[in-house]
Amino acid sequence: MRIVKGIPVSPGIAIAPAHQRRTGTAMPAQRLVPHSQIESELERFAEALEASRMELSAMADKSGLADAVGSIASSHREFLRDPTLLRQVQEAIRNGRTSAEYAVAVVFRRWIEKFRALDDEFFRQRHLDLIDLEQRVLRQLIADEERADEASTEPAILVTQDLTPSEAAALDKSRFLGFVTELGGATSHTAIIAKSLGIPAVCGLGPLAEVIPDDATLIVDGARGVVVVNPRADVLAQYRERQGRIERRFRILKRQAELPAETPDGWPVGVTANIEFPFEVDQALRNGADGIGLYRTEFLYTEGAGVPNEEAHLEAYSLALERLQGRPLVVRTFDFGADKFAAEVGIPAEPNPALGSRSLRYSFARPELFRTQLRALLRAGAQGRISVMFPMVSSVTELRRARRIMDDVAEELRREHIPYGAKIPVGAMIEIPSAAVASDLLAREADFFSIGTNDLTQYSLAVDRANERVAALFRPSNPAILRLLQTVQTEGARAQIRVTVCGEMAAEQTYTVLLLGLGIRHFSVAPAAVPEVKRVVRSITRRRAVEITEVALSLPTPEEVDAYLAEQTDQILGATWT
Ligand code: PEP
Ligand code: MG
Repeated sequence: MRIVKGIPVSPGIAIAPAHQRRTGTAMPAQRLVPHSQIESELERFAEALEASRMELSAMADKSGLADAVGSIASSHREFLRDPTLLRQVQEAIRNGRTSAEYAVAVVFRRWIEKFRALDDEFFRQRHLDLIDLEQRVLRQLIADEERADEASTEPAILVTQDLTPSEAAALDKSRFLGFVTELGGATSHTAIIAKSLGIPAVCGLGPLAEVIPDDATLIVDGARGVVVVNPRADVLAQYRERQGRIERRFRILKRQAELPAETPDGWPVGVTANIEFPFEVDQALRNGADGIGLYRTEFLYTEGAGVPNEEAHLEAYSLALERLQGRPLVVRTFDFGADKFAAEVGIPAEPNPALGSRSLRYSFARPELFRTQLRALLRAGAQGRISVMFPMVSSVTELRRARRIMDDVAEELRREHIPYGAKIPVGAMIEIPSAAVASDLLAREADFFSIGTNDLTQYSLAVDRANERVAALFRPSNPAILRLLQTVQTEGARAQIRVTVCGEMAAEQTYTVLLLGLGIRHFSVAPAAVPEVKRVVRSITRRRAVEITEVALSLPTPEEVDAYLAEQTDQILGATWT
């Protein structure tokens, strides 16, 4: 038995055999093949090349993508036709009697090193293209090897170096009971998806290959961030017992989900859900959500071929509204860039993408994408209670600019005699320190605020939310963050606009209490977390929450804040249900 500690990402306990997914970045093992198999390895290589070329062609043709992406894809395709490169791989398979993937890795890596050592900067940079190509071809070969395995329906826990948000969203939930990754942090988008889907997950475990053998039995303890490899019988029994307990308690909580979220001293609170896909509305409502407080529309991009057109947008919003049956829907416009689909949308590589052309700024840079989405949102406004919010607003100038574009799009619809919602509330996400500090100015021009504490924490503390190496520093309880939250809440209240907290923090028991004490009355959390947040609200008086928050605000370090909050909430709410 071995216990590995990582970052808790999505609560729950999953128990199943490990299923390793090779990512292709590691050197494939040297597999010698018998003479009789050499031809079939050569064929596999030829097929992988063809499939890679086809992928690149599709990328080059994909409408709506930046030209730069098209030209990179075409030049990569040419690389894959280079006769010397192809001959060397074929010779490596024949003469070395190795598997196709080993031969590809050896030859490509030789070329990569050669390019990397060149004097000419332009050619030296081409080594990056070769790394990319090697990965593409290897992915084909590995996918080919794994296809048979994918047909399996045996329950398993996915073990992988990393998982992109769209891969997490596409996971076969009936087969994969949980996942563990080497990289990633607690508020990465992959983590958010895992929570939405209710899949227990632990990320940031560091190199896993040596610790998790292929046939190992794993326990994933998503709330504690612990993975147990090949558990002893008594440990397994304990976990099964805890798993049963959590499930039973969740069932009870769900039965209480319809009860209103109101503190015992009569302070009503709104609890809405965060979704990435319209189908999640049903689960959110079953769990007692009052509506949807954050619809992350970037994920629309993963559902079809590329950037969605106006009809695809409208269909998604109509579907969500229909399922909501009159309850409110807050849609965030595209938040592309940095950790969110940057490469897929064709955002050129930047030296510092987190501070580059992303989110609202990227929408300004791509007016055709932005206007298409706004047209659909305005049209959906004629069908139900929809609000629009803009991500990463950093100044009043940006908010005004976005509003002007929205007005202009509305005018366009009016001229075309297309029905639209004329009074759609427009909100600003407060997730950049400048927006929080200047929230008094923004409050005059926004209809509501939604505080994205994931990014607000990342940008205020200069801690990458998806980097496991700095995960310990990612603490929304840092006094600096608490002061920013207090400022935003105060200014929102002064301007009499709604202030919602929609970052992951809102769903953590201790922080729910703290936010209540700050005066926050609107929480938007993962659908699975709604019943628990409502229970917390029902368990503590607003007066007590204010007292606790006042003490927390006087403490100088996040460690002291967290320890104090844990002690207080344990007394009031009992131990966490995990
Ligand atoms: C946030 O930053 O807190 C937020 C809610 O948005 P996202 O997690 O999608 O960046
Ligand atoms: Mg954000």
